[in-house]
Amino acid sequence: MERAPRSDALESGAGPIIARLAAALAQIGTALRSGVWRTHGPRGLSPTQVQTLAALQVAERPLQLTEIARHLAVTAPTASEAVATLVGNRLVGKTKRAGDGRAVAISLSARGRIAAGWPPAVLREIAFLSPTERGSCLRSLVTVIRALQRSGELPACRMCASCQYFRPYAHPRSARPHHCAFVEAAFADAHLRLECRDDALADQARQDEIWCRFARRAG
Ligand code: SF4
Repeated sequence: MERAPRSDALESGAGPIIARLAAALAQIGTALRSGVWRTHGPRGLSPTQVQTLAALQVAERPLQLTEIARHLAVTAPTASEAVATLVGNRLVGKTKRAGDGRAVAISLSARGRIAAGWPPAVLREIAFLSPTERGSCLRSLVTVIRALQRSGELPACRMCASCQYFRPYAHPRSARPHHCAFVEAAFADAHLRLECRDDALADQARQDEIWCRFARRAG
């Protein structure tokens, strides 16, 4: 009896690539969570409090309570409770916005900035990827994140993929294929932003157009 080539056996035994990619992302999520837990567990911080620190770190700017609640996909009272504990631990500070006494901005304190760092082991391994691998990995992840935002599974964030200034693949065949019309400059996949202070959310029609061009999908 003729035996199947070894490569066929390998491929059929590996399972669907989509499931393996989801499993790989879950494993990285576990590494992030366990690294963060090793840092914060002894401080007695809850997962919501840790996520609040992470949201402030990613945003690189003060956030209002409603923005934190949106980032974490939790209710305003839950976010408020987490922030109150972090204020008590002197990991974040609250300041009133000039000209609007009711709006409070929450920012990381110096102590909070140190505490909010990503697990060093995860950063070290990502740093081993080549620049091309990092860029292409970021583009793929941004595509999945944006798709999940569009279907309501994730809250929106101030990212290139939904920004009215984003011109995906405006410079085809270039190492910097994308264009930011805010600063009028070309940029590479590696420079795609997940949080940008200059971002301006495009209207729905423009978001759809950007999505089709960026994800190379029909709609
Ligand atoms: S303004 Fe910021 S979010 Fe918008 S395209 Fe430029 S870099 Fe990206």
